[in-house]
Amino acid sequence: MNARPLYLGGQWRQTDTTLTVLNPSNGEKLGEVCTVPRPVVAQAIADAHAAFPAWRALTGKARGEYLRKIAAELERRGDEIARTITLENGKPLAQSQGEVAMSVDHLRWFAEEARRAYGRTVPNQVDGKRHIVVKTPIGVVAAISPWNFPLVLAVRKIAPALAAGCPVILKPASATPLCTVLFAECVEAARLPCGVFQLVVGRAADIAAEFLENPLCRKITFTGSTEVGQSLIRGAAQGVKPLSLELGGHAPVLVFDDADLNRAVEGAAIAKFRNTGQSCIAANRIYVQRAVYAEFLERFVAHVRTLKVGDGLEPGVQIGPLINEEGLAKALGQIENAVKKGARVLCGGKRVPGRGTFLEATVLADVPDSAECMREETFAPMAPVCAFDTEDEAIERANASRFGLSAYAFTNDIGRAFRLMERLEAGSIGLNDGVPTTSQCPFGGLKQSGWGRELGIEGMDAFLETKHVSIAL
Ligand code: NAP
Repeated sequence: MNARPLYLGGQWRQTDTTLTVLNPSNGEKLGEVCTVPRPVVAQAIADAHAAFPAWRALTGKARGEYLRKIAAELERRGDEIARTITLENGKPLAQSQGEVAMSVDHLRWFAEEARRAYGRTVPNQVDGKRHIVVKTPIGVVAAISPWNFPLVLAVRKIAPALAAGCPVILKPASATPLCTVLFAECVEAARLPCGVFQLVVGRAADIAAEFLENPLCRKITFTGSTEVGQSLIRGAAQGVKPLSLELGGHAPVLVFDDADLNRAVEGAAIAKFRNTGQSCIAANRIYVQRAVYAEFLERFVAHVRTLKVGDGLEPGVQIGPLINEEGLAKALGQIENAVKKGARVLCGGKRVPGRGTFLEATVLADVPDSAECMREETFAPMAPVCAFDTEDEAIERANASRFGLSAYAFTNDIGRAFRLMERLEAGSIGLNDGVPTTSQCPFGGLKQSGWGRELGIEGMDAFLETKHVSIAL
């Protein structure tokens, strides 16, 4: 089997070095992808820079037409691309199909936003002057994306950057590059000009060093762990390189005693177990008000026991494998640590025997705040639950985290809903809603969950410079 080539300078390029992609459901080899050394990344940046003047000179409407063509091709090849996501990432096929559909929606949203990179006219306070604010594309953009949503999190960067008038170089995660090769084929089918979109795969530290140190690369947009985000911040200091960072999360779920409990069970389960718990906005800790604690646990465990764990291509599977042995070992370690600190295992708790890195869908009760899983990301289908007494206590415990990406709350009290939206320290808040993300609303984190926002009308700002022009008449 030939290694998949990379899309560079408008051409497919084969190289001598490759990386192997594995199927986490069975550990088998899926294929190989070419990799590139740092000088090739430098060439990609030069080619992107050369493509910039013509791309930025197009109207927003014309750039939007290109995005629509990519979206149409992605949709046409949706089944094949979804299958590829499931094979390399492990997630259930229906969720991969959802990921493709959301990627298409992001492309269409930013195709429309391309026409709306509005500046403004500002009233003057001195006679004979006029002030305008104009927005211009920032230049060559480097995008680094993770493996957990390997397509949509890349598209969430590529679509607004292209819409804003910026060429983009994508570096996908090494575990899941195959779907981004298919995405590059869609870009090629849409006939984007040479160098406007390129794909590089290889040693992350080398590629990132070129992105950071090459002055022609004007912006890095990154989704991944807080630790790598911190290393990018350090690396960006020398060149004062602008960064957008979508980093780790540790979402709390608050279930109040006035909530519709069925809704809370369903919402908490989807927020926890979607994507096999490997989501930055995954419910990481569930706090339930004491009066409904026992009832919630009973219904929640009954629901979780119905979730089918298995190969994502098998019909009816809702939970796939963890991405690798390291991810599984981390989750098992957190379960052991919580149990040592007094937690009770209500269901699951063990590795599923056989091939693949599967964890049983797990619920832990009475988990103390001192347990590791109450402080660090779990990234697995394991839900720690504990009780709280008052609203103030729940908010304080929810906010007691270095992360601030997302939070969920279930309540039917309108006053409480407003207090929660004002006081919870999270960039997105799901009120009676376990799936808050949508193309037209901003997404991003507070505290150590990152800098900046993707999606929504805010999504293009990351790729636009704001200039004030003062005109003396
Ligand atoms: P990761 O290890 O930080 O990797 C993310 C990306 O960064 C990959 O492409 C990786 O490449 C690359 N990378 C690794 N080392 C690097 C370096 N020194 N410099 C620059 N790039 C480097 O994260 P992950 O394990 O893939 O993803 C899980 C994490 O992402 C979790 O913490 C999750 O919460 C976070 N996440 C956040 C969001 C959000 O929107 N806030 C969304 C999804 C995930 P290689 O694969 O080649 O190592």
